[in-house]
Amino acid sequence: MKGFDPATLRTQSRSRMRTALGALALSAIWLALLFSYSDAVLDRFGVRGFLIAAGLAILTIVLAAMNSILGAPKCPHCRTRLVGPLLPTAIASGKCGSCGKALEG
Ligand SMILES: [Zn+2]
Repeated sequence: MKGFDPATLRTQSRSRMRTALGALALSAIWLALLFSYSDAVLDRFGVRGFLIAAGLAILTIVLAAMNSILGAPKCPHCRTRLVGPLLPTAIASGKCGSCGKALEG
């Protein structure tokens, strides 16, 4: 079945993981800077500006997490999303880690 080639699955999951980690790293740096200079930010932009800036970083983390979960392939048999430990199982064995049926064909 198209889209369940193990090599393609691996490439896609790595690319999604890189995007998620990149977004996480940027958000962590953003939050660290924001809290390091919280006095200056609060003086300049007030509490609302501070909360918006912190909210943007948190929103980025949430969107990155949603992207990596919602972008994950589904098993054609049981419709389980192949995320977490199910994905390496599917890549290594070519079978769904939930129902055990072959993903290809
Ligand atoms: Zn399945």
